[in-house]
Amino acid sequence: MYPSRFRYEAPRSLDEAIALLHEGGGEAKVLAGGQSLIPLMKLRFASPELLVDINEIGDLDYIQVGSDGALHIGALCRHAHLERSSMLTSTQPTMAAAAPLIADPIVRNRGTLVGSLCHADPQGDWASVVVALGGHVIARGPAGQRAIPVSQFVSGPFQNVLAYDEIAVEAVIPAAKGEPAGGYLKLERRVGDFATVGVAVAVERSGGSISRAGIALTGVGASTIDAVDASQALVGAPLDVERIAHAADLAAQAAQPRTDHRGSAAYKRQIVRTFVVRLLNRVADSADRAA
Ligand SMILES: Cc1cc2nc3c(=O)[nH]c(=O)nc-3n(C[C@H](O)[C@H](O)[C@H](O)COP(=O)(O)OP(=O)(O)OC[C@H]3O[C@@H](n4cnc5c(N)ncnc54)[C@H](O)[C@@H]3O)c2cc1C
Repeated sequence: MYPSRFRYEAPRSLDEAIALLHEGGGEAKVLAGGQSLIPLMKLRFASPELLVDINEIGDLDYIQVGSDGALHIGALCRHAHLERSSMLTSTQPTMAAAAPLIADPIVRNRGTLVGSLCHADPQGDWASVVVALGGHVIARGPAGQRAIPVSQFVSGPFQNVLAYDEIAVEAVIPAAKGEPAGGYLKLERRVGDFATVGVAVAVERSGGSISRAGIALTGVGASTIDAVDASQALVGAPLDVERIAHAADLAAQAAQPRTDHRGSAAYKRQIVRTFVVRLLNRVADSADRAA
């Protein structure tokens, strides 16, 4: 199917893009990588009157460490850029594990991490990763700039808290205070598919103990699930078998899976438990090897 008719603008500055969104009065949409929006428009699930293509705006395609040590990922930073970034391999194990698991190489060449957060698909992988890492989104609109924690950015399936005339300009991952460890595991029916279940684990270690932990779940609820109780159960002690099993049980309890053609709710809950154990065992093993 062809999309409905729409007006197309490709502004060269953020201010111009924001003014266009404002003028659109809620009937305009930002176009970033187009890997989610264009299919929705072709199916006519989305019919914006105005498309504001941000790809001509310079300076939005970056991944860099700020003076505060935080990782800043611009709105036009593609999945493929993240997949190839040596910065992630050396300092962001959870992100490095997730990047090659997003879709397929063609989608990764165009799609963006920030676009994925904005799209707020419950099966989107990046939201879980960024929630587990305690990240936030910087949004800019006519009234200025604000920071929104990713755990509060998604307001429901395919919904975010941005005002109609705001643009998400970057995602920010705070600097780790301890030694970062973790990963991302994804159960998919075939390579390149959306997650049946995904689990992101991001921990920081200090002096043999876990000083910070984040566990978030993909595809097992109406939106990304921040498994807060499971994360907190890890903090303040070293990882051991009992603690890992307890955190995995709490994460499985936090999941709200539905039975569908991909598997039963009980099966998906069990996958959450298994993935949490597997990821935390890897963290514990790497600590043992380093000792
Ligand atoms: C075949 C296929 C397989 C896929 N598999 C996966 C997968 O396994 N895992 C996964 O996580 N994703 C998957 N995706 C989705 C993909 O990751 C998209 O790239 C991502 O969801 C959206 O990023 P985008 O840059 O393409 O956004 P777009 O499609 O351009 O936009 C998506 C939505 O976000 C809004 N938006 C985008 N950027 C901004 C911004 N800066 N400010 C405000 N609003 C904005 C748009 O208005 C739109 O509503 C798949 C897509 C396809 C086509």
